[in-house]
Amino acid sequence: MLEIKDLTVEIGGRKILNKVNLKVEQGSTTVLFGPNGAGKSALLMTLMGFSGYDIVSGQILFKGVDITHLSVNERAERGLGIMTQRPPNLTGVKLKDLVKVISNDHSFDTDAASKKLDMERFMDRDVNVGFSGGEIKRSELLQLSAQNPCLYLLDEPESGVDLVSIEEIGTTIDELLSSRSKCSVDHYKRGNSALIITHTGQVLDYVEPDVGYILCNGVVMCRGNPREMLKEIKAHGYQECIKCKQATL
Ligand code: ADP
Ligand code: MG
Ligand code: MG
Repeated sequence: MLEIKDLTVEIGGRKILNKVNLKVEQGSTTVLFGPNGAGKSALLMTLMGFSGYDIVSGQILFKGVDITHLSVNERAERGLGIMTQRPPNLTGVKLKDLVKVISNDHSFDTDAASKKLDMERFMDRDVNVGFSGGEIKRSELLQLSAQNPCLYLLDEPESGVDLVSIEEIGTTIDELLSSRSKCSVDHYKRGNSALIITHTGQVLDYVEPDVGYILCNGVVMCRGNPREMLKEIKAHGYQECIKCKQATL
């Protein structure tokens, strides 16, 4: 579904990602761990094609097509969807209007989806303006369900969210990943694919991960069993970065 090859990225002339290699197989959930400032968010923003992330070298392949230099729009049309770590407020744009634009090209039951996420009373409000942490994430998930992407890029879905909302958000993510999109193939484990950044691992109480990566200082240190990695990280923190490098590379 996604293949990142030797990707080196700079922000304002400073190297943030260094020869990153990473794969997300069709229908699988890949988790990206790493300490603060490692470059995790920068990687997702680069994958989605946001400006300011300068690709110095390397390649991004999506469904076998080189998307390295495509616009955000073109990537979204091909089936990439993102929930950023700090989604922006869109003053002057009502949530219901945004959802309508996003779901333009296919049938989407806005009423049912907003009811399911308990977002009905937010539909007439400006997107994310004055929303709590959990409400913002639910608003973003509503937008993602309207988009129905093939690959979900989720940046710390549990961050800034209270414990009650985490369950709802985690369960919704699991449902979205299990649903069908234009890329779904019957014999795969899940309908959709995901690359999820998680610092605490809380989202993994609701979503079953297949592969894990650890990113430190812009470098992929290792690839392995995500549950084992989380156990190590919880026990030893990210000092394990170096150990993990010696063990697996
Ligand atoms: P993570 O998500 O792993 O915590 P980030 O990807 O947010 O890390 O940041 C990686 C590095 O890039 C950090 O050193 C951060 O300060 C830097 N960085 C991120 N965005 C910008 C920006 N817009 N301008 C300058 N530096 C940035
Ligand atoms: Mg961070
Ligand atoms: Mg981040």
